[in-house]
Amino acid sequence: MTAPEIKYTQAFINNEFVNSVSGKTFVTLNPSTSEKICDVQEGDKADIDLAVKAAREAFKLGSTWRRMDASARGRLLLKLADLIDRDAAYIRELETLDNGMVINLTTRTIGGIGNDARSLAGWADKIHGKTIPIDGDFFCYTRYEPVGVVGAIIPWNFPAPILVNKLCHALVCGDTIVIKPAEQTPLTALYIASLIKEAGFPPGVVNIVPGYGPTAGAAISEHMDVDVVSFTGSTEVGRLIQAAAGRTNLKRVALEMGGKSPNVVFADCDLDYAVEMSHQALFLHCGQVCIAGSRTFVQEEIYDDFVKKSVARAKRRTVGDPFDKTIEGGPQIDQDGLDKVIEMIESGKKEGAKLECGGKRIGDKGYFVESTVFSDVTDDMRIAKEEIFGPVQQIIKFKTLEEVRDRANNTTYGLAAAVFTKDIDKAFSIANTVQAGTVWVNTYFVGSSLTPFGGYKTSGVGRENGMEGLMEYLEIKTVIVKIPEKNS
Ligand code: NAP
Ligand code: MG
Repeated sequence: MTAPEIKYTQAFINNEFVNSVSGKTFVTLNPSTSEKICDVQEGDKADIDLAVKAAREAFKLGSTWRRMDASARGRLLLKLADLIDRDAAYIRELETLDNGMVINLTTRTIGGIGNDARSLAGWADKIHGKTIPIDGDFFCYTRYEPVGVVGAIIPWNFPAPILVNKLCHALVCGDTIVIKPAEQTPLTALYIASLIKEAGFPPGVVNIVPGYGPTAGAAISEHMDVDVVSFTGSTEVGRLIQAAAGRTNLKRVALEMGGKSPNVVFADCDLDYAVEMSHQALFLHCGQVCIAGSRTFVQEEIYDDFVKKSVARAKRRTVGDPFDKTIEGGPQIDQDGLDKVIEMIESGKKEGAKLECGGKRIGDKGYFVESTVFSDVTDDMRIAKEEIFGPVQQIIKFKTLEEVRDRANNTTYGLAAAVFTKDIDKAFSIANTVQAGTVWVNTYFVGSSLTPFGGYKTSGVGRENGMEGLMEYLEIKTVIVKIPEKNS
């Protein structure tokens, strides 16, 4: 497989590709080989300032963007969706190169972006307020207005889908946006920038500035002229962003953060199906998924069988070249990601969990880790409490419904949960009591741009997708008009 050609490495501001103000660049690596792919312009505060200025200018009253009909905004997004579909084969290869995600998965994720964008585009002329029958001779109505300039900070694990999702939310609402992709994965973002220009968005509506979190990212969250920050990433950085908003202009924050999601498997489930789904829930994208089912609770009657079958499945998992269509798992994102996974595996062993398979790095090139399964995991172990973000499954035993309900919620996170059972009462019991933004019953990872997504507790602030997601990008204005008595 020949590597895809790299076409864009500069920041995208005001519809132009430009070098960083400082002239600095940084290296983006191929996680399969640890080798350099290319240098990318390194934006920092000065570049974010220029991007915010461009976004503010594009948002000014009377600007092309502000005067554009809502339906026309929707059509521009539909055009972008078509361009993404046109170039999907290239974009997925670029994503696999920069991120290490296996091509089978980027085929699905990049293949799905266009339709998500189309679905979100449909909201453009369907966002409307209410008329409210207040007492007296008044006509009262609400207007849903764009907030203004959005700052979006993107993680590396699903770079292109998260970028396009945030972009569509902001643009259907009529906002303008400044986006910082993750330092590890800037390449698909910059290619999509070229499609934004080709689609015909006015200059300044979308600006994409690659750079590091503590410089470019912090410049967004500290900026006095950014009205809302939409962040996806770790809870640790989410806290910094919320604090920065509080210190500066009290900008709105929407935070999608980490998880340690319970996946509860009852003895009455379809065992082979639950084993496979639990395997996918954890090992997809090598565990580098915020909603991974990373605490697998299994009822004691089937525990031993479940462990045996899960270990056999993990041993069959193919890990290697992400461009090979037969491969299920690629590398971890970088050296830090690899080190963290290995350190967590060591802590699991030290704290007394039973290492059933895997546990080691594969080779010395790239950041590959063996598919790893621990049994005899208890709730107090670090591997049961902390996000590992690696291919490491924790299988935990439980006895009763009442007990597992409490234990599932015994975490600071609350992003997702799943339950596998044929008993509808148990399914509803978990679905209604678990503190999680999304719950799956006898399935996993299903969602769409129509389904609100976000976290309870330290997993999130606000929601994405659906009308609920759009509310993060809108202001509600109430207008009260005195009407002459004779007209009421
Ligand atoms: P991260 O380290 O929090 O980074 C996310 C983004 O924040 C990156 O662009 C990063 O910049 C930037 N950043 C870092 N420090 C910053 C600062 N001081 N101010 C402003 N921005 C800053 O997370 P990650 O390692 O990329 O992603 C993995 C995490 O994301 C996991 O915890 C995962 O659960 C979570 N996640 C959540 C969801 C969800 O929807 N809930 C989805 C995907 C991932 P750099 O480019 O320098 O890294
Ligand atoms: Mg990279």
